[in-house]
Amino acid sequence: MHKKIIVANWKMNLELQDAKKLIANILKKLKKQNPHTTKIILCVPYVYINVVRQMISGIRNVFVGAQNCNEYNTGAFTGEISCSMLKSCGVDYLIVGHSERRTLYNESNKLAEKKILQSITNNILPIFCCGETLEARKNKTYFNAVNTQINESLFNLDKDQFSKIVIAYEPVWSIGTGMTAELKDIEEMHKFIRNKIRNKYGKLVSETTPILYGGSVSSLNASNIFGLLNVNGSLVGGASLNADHFMNIVKVLK
Ligand code: PEP
Repeated sequence: MHKKIIVANWKMNLELQDAKKLIANILKKLKKQNPHTTKIILCVPYVYINVVRQMISGIRNVFVGAQNCNEYNTGAFTGEISCSMLKSCGVDYLIVGHSERRTLYNESNKLAEKKILQSITNNILPIFCCGETLEARKNKTYFNAVNTQINESLFNLDKDQFSKIVIAYEPVWSIGTGMTAELKDIEEMHKFIRNKIRNKYGKLVSETTPILYGGSVSSLNASNIFGLLNVNGSLVGGASLNADHFMNIVKVLK
């Protein structure tokens, strides 16, 4: 069975004092929800990783993640951060292939594949984001879009490597826009992804790969989304910056 997962993606938001306050508030609310079984992964800016790791130390099912990495392990890459550095700072998860990296920094499926390999090699679990543009949704090529992303970034992994992957289906047009995909479309795409994994890696791997939905998830729409077949949680951007909103989403996933 999959563990239910909620990923917070803070992106490039919050200064240190606000970041600490947010974590403190999340932890306060979490105490009231015990025993909680959902995995909470806090993907924070690099510079806050250490402080967040210390604050969550010893708390069950709460992990710190990064939002990016370099595709090499070490070397003369001024300003870059490697997966081995992240691991040495206590990072357990890593977002790869987020649409903002794809569109703003021109990252390709092949680059995502390299980052995933670095991540797995360093014992960090990759959260791979895939999803179609609005254009692809409108011209009905959305299955092709997601198919290509998964084929090129994930399907050269062997079974053991693939079993480390968390997938986040995030329609690009729904990220940060307040527009969520229709429930039937989410369900259809998650089923497509699950079947695709099954055909390549078999029943067990397909049944145990968490497939999250991301795109303007809030405490208002979370309950309907989490009720869908093949949805194992969510990647949350905007709503993860508010402890009440974020923890209400966690509560719904119970
Ligand atoms: C995201 O950052 O991937 C995301 C889904 O953001 P939001 O929840 O704000 O749409």
